[in-house]
Amino acid sequence: MPAAVAVAASQAAPPANVRQVSCPLCWARPAEPCQQYYPRGDHLARWLAACAAGRVTRSQLTAVIGRLTVVTRRVIVSEQAPLR
Ligand SMILES: [Zn+2]
Repeated sequence: MPAAVAVAASQAAPPANVRQVSCPLCWARPAEPCQQYYPRGDHLARWLAACAAGRVTRSQLTAVIGRLTVVTRRVIVSEQAPLR
């Protein structure tokens, strides 16, 4: 289920690292994004799972969370470059 709010992912954390784990929220399989279309990206819940699995560092996760204006598990972290 796509979220209404999207944010840009840190360029230091490639989506491929996050997509090495399945999403615990929407069950997107490894290598598949949680959301296919604009904005293409992954749930914050998946980023948290990837961090717990050691696929993303805490500093990369912190950078992503720092760009959020709303923090929920359903927020989509866009793979696009930051708009700012
Ligand atoms: Zn997901």
